[in-house]
Amino acid sequence: MSYTVTLIPGDGIGPEVVAAAVRVLTATGLDFEWETQIAGASAIGEHGTALPPHVLESVRRNKVAFKGPTETPVGTGHRSVNVELRKTLDLYANLRPVQTMPGVKSRYTDVDLVIVRENTEDLYSGLEHVVVPGVVESIKIITEKASTRIAKYAFAYARSHGRKRITAVHKANIMKLSDGLFLDCCRAVAKDYPEVTYDEMIVDNTCMQLVLDPTRFDMLLLENLYGDIVSDLCAGFIGGLGLAPGANIGDEAALFEAVHGSAPDIAGKNLANPMALILSAAMMLDHLGEQQAADRVRNAVHAVLKEGQKLTRDLGGTAGTTEIAEAIATKV
Ligand code: NAD
Repeated sequence: MSYTVTLIPGDGIGPEVVAAAVRVLTATGLDFEWETQIAGASAIGEHGTALPPHVLESVRRNKVAFKGPTETPVGTGHRSVNVELRKTLDLYANLRPVQTMPGVKSRYTDVDLVIVRENTEDLYSGLEHVVVPGVVESIKIITEKASTRIAKYAFAYARSHGRKRITAVHKANIMKLSDGLFLDCCRAVAKDYPEVTYDEMIVDNTCMQLVLDPTRFDMLLLENLYGDIVSDLCAGFIGGLGLAPGANIGDEAALFEAVHGSAPDIAGKNLANPMALILSAAMMLDHLGEQQAADRVRNAVHAVLKEGQKLTRDLGGTAGTTEIAEAIATKV
């Protein structure tokens, strides 16, 4: 069977880690037809926009996309391609597993968390305006529909993956209406899953508890902004962003990308760790029903980490992105 997948190399380290992941996917022996599409800062010169409409059409048509990080200017410039892709394609569930990797020196062992982040609303709705000079307003949108949908996704995931506990993370002591609505929806959905323990924790306390002992948690269910921040925090528990994969799932399409950004500080130097994106590729294989190939890719990553001979700089090694890709590909 052949899979046609939209391939977005992205900006910064994107093309390097995407090439590495494609090398590993090719080594699975599965037949991929890559429909390469340019989006992000690199698309602006040619297309005048960071997200040309034909990129969205390609993802809609293929229903599966594989993406490198794209750059978003700070405080000015074009809107985030990621936010636009997730909103426009209604990729409402951001799934980010965080697991201790064999052989990797990090501050914690036995971390096994799953982050489920709402991906389409909250302060990422892009509703910002100047009220009067010196005063701006950013609007946080929380809806019953999106909150119920993400809670259902999280609980269904817990049921199908044998997860025991979901912690909804919030700030409903302050944002009583918005985060209060989010919690109401989570509580209502939780009633249908008596086998999954449900609890709630205020976001600041959650961060402190996570840093004290991340192994106390099983699944975290969060709105968009808290989910974004807590994802990077949790990546730090397992050795950093170079090891944190992710997926953006909707009813009509899915897009697979790592948690990390375009890392301009190391771009173009063959220094980026491609493992996060390679593990995201394994999530894509899961999604395509290619379970065996997904396991082979994950096992190959684990084997390279365990050997500890070929590691990128973020993990204390000196190997380049391409070497890591080759080492993993030969073990798939
Ligand atoms: P970043 O994730 O790009 O980098 C943070 C730190 O982690 C940097 O020191 C970087 O060198 C390191 N790092 C990241 N990925 C790595 C990897 N694979 N291997 C080794 N080291 C790695 O975050 P940032 O610097 O805050 O953001 C840079 C740009 O990326 C911004 O324009 C931001 O908007 C964008 N971004 C995009 C996405 C996405 O496309 N999904 C996600 C986050 C940030």
